[in-house]
Order: sequence, then C-alpha cells, then structure tokens
Amino acid sequence: MKKCLACEKGELIKVEDIIFEIDGYIFIVKGERCTNCNEEFPYEEETQRVILTARKLGVWPESLKLYRHLSMSGGGLVFRIPSDIEKQLKLTEKTEITISKIGNKIVIEPEN
Ligand SMILES: [Zn+2]
Repeated sequence: MKKCLACEKGELIKVEDIIFEIDGYIFIVKGERCTNCNEEFPYEEETQRVILTARKLGVWPESLKLYRHLSMSGGGLVFRIPSDIEKQLKLTEKTEITISKIGNKIVIEPEN
C-alpha cells in the first residue's frame, strides 16, 4: 500500500472516477485517492491524455479547472495553488492577494 504524499496518514487506493472539468468539458480519469484526506492523484499518462485532448479542443491551458480538496493546517483550512497556475501567474510567497466571495465562488486575485 502506498502512503499519501499530502497528509502522510492515509493510503492510496485505485479509483477510476477522478473528474477534470476544462471549459465545460468533463474528463474522467484513473488514478489514486487517499483514504484519509481524499486528495486525488491522477496517473501521469491519464493527465497527459486529458491535456492532449483539451489542446485539440482548444480549451487548454486557459480556463483550467481542477477539483481539489482543502487540507487542515494549524487549525485552519489551506488551499494549495496548482504549480502550473503558480508559474503562469509568477506567484511567490511574497505575492499579495485579494480574496473576494462572489455568490458561492471564491476569487483569488494576485496584486501586481
Ligand atoms: Zn492523504
């Protein structure tokens, strides 16, 4: 059994229902999910297949939507920014952000 890299407590089980939504297109891929924190780890070749298909459809890389789970740290909820977004927007730990709530959405805007 593989241990979860995110929480280091759960075990990774094989799943076939990880959901990517890209610009209205839904992709279901195979991968592994943690039994403790529910973090999902799609297989690399599955992710590549989604990227290739999405490029053909012209919906990559803008409007990327990934399903993620929040994790707990120091009594608060933590959201990890996906690394491709981090690179695209050149975010660092010094980047100031504004957070606003619009309906049931949370919008995070980095200051330039
Ligand atoms: Zn976990």
